[in-house]
Amino acid sequence: MNFEEIKADENEYLMHTYGRFNAALVSGKGAIAVDVNGKEYIDFTSGIGVNSLGYCDDGWVRAVTEQAGTIQHMSNLYYSPVQIKAAKKLCQLSGMDKVLFCNSGAEANECAIKLARKYSFDKYGKERNRIITLVNSFHGRTLAALTATGQEAFHNYFFPFNEGFEYAEANNIDDVKTHVSDDVCGIFIELIQGEGGVMPLEPEFVKELTDICAEKDILLLVDEVQTGVSRTGRFLCCENYGIKPDIITLAKGLGGGIPIGACLCNEKLSDVFTPGTHGTTFGGNPIVCAAANEVLSRVADEEFLSEVTKKGDYIREKLAAFPNVRETRGMGMMIGIVTEKDNAKEVAAKCVENGLLILTAKNLLRLLPPLTITYEEIDKGLEILKSVMEE
Ligand SMILES: *Cc1c(COP(=O)(O)O)cnc(C)c1O
Repeated sequence: MNFEEIKADENEYLMHTYGRFNAALVSGKGAIAVDVNGKEYIDFTSGIGVNSLGYCDDGWVRAVTEQAGTIQHMSNLYYSPVQIKAAKKLCQLSGMDKVLFCNSGAEANECAIKLARKYSFDKYGKERNRIITLVNSFHGRTLAALTATGQEAFHNYFFPFNEGFEYAEANNIDDVKTHVSDDVCGIFIELIQGEGGVMPLEPEFVKELTDICAEKDILLLVDEVQTGVSRTGRFLCCENYGIKPDIITLAKGLGGGIPIGACLCNEKLSDVFTPGTHGTTFGGNPIVCAAANEVLSRVADEEFLSEVTKKGDYIREKLAAFPNVRETRGMGMMIGIVTEKDNAKEVAAKCVENGLLILTAKNLLRLLPPLTITYEEIDKGLEILKSVMEE
């Protein structure tokens, strides 16, 4: 099939939920993707922060295929050594106490919301159930996660939305305080709002939030679905802020390209869920956990992490010299680019034509390269980006 035929079939058989770029990708290696015509692209997206080790990394392929040929799935009614190994590693790396595995970021956040509410229900009764999230946040597409998402544009069509969410302005502690009442059980934040335009929270604001939470036994929930698993140069972005939340959610980069999400909690919450109170058929399936074990064994040592930081700094430095770049935001290899012209979508489409995959967020260009990208690939990609931006 040629590209036009693929595009026609997509239009005919898939629901029209995505504005797609003009490329049908069929294979890849490292930070290079290949389309149906054999054209190569430098990948500055890693999916959307998913392929943390790049395309078809040798160790990752081995881990996944070996697991597929050993035992691919079992129900969560049995003990799964590969799942337990992943949970243990996650606890060691994060300093958290327990893990629940699920299949996506939205699901991890649903779990976080349920966990926070049940903690509060058990201790204070059912009225104390409200969760404060931040304006301009993004927490996923399922109904509660969508309601938690603090952007009006997402609160449409699908009425009724869930009750029990309030939205406070990011970096405005006084606004948060106006929402803090006896009914609040949790404050749910992204440390760097990714889809919202790569907006890092101010450290002082985050510290004040943690103080409010500690004082009132309000749980702090941090959505690290995009920032987690070494994306920002630490295993968790929480480490950049020096905070220890009660609940952390992970997904995107955790499986290196297959669907896994995780909700992590501290000791205070470790006995809140009991058999039957939460679960999922596929969550923590052996194949996804084998993939996660490979990712976790690779991305968390000091040398790897400092490379992520260095590569991020290298990209930022080069971008600063681009004529049409006003500002870059983010940490590590989570990079937002504010351009002089308000044309991020056009630039991204042009980049694809010229052999570079790149993301946008709001009116920014956004880079989430595979963490293993080489300097040579970075240089090549930036050259394409520069020439497109200069057009
Ligand atoms: C992508 C994302 C989600 C949703 O994850 P899905 O796997 O698409 O459900 C939630 N929170 C943040 C911060 C994200 O970036």
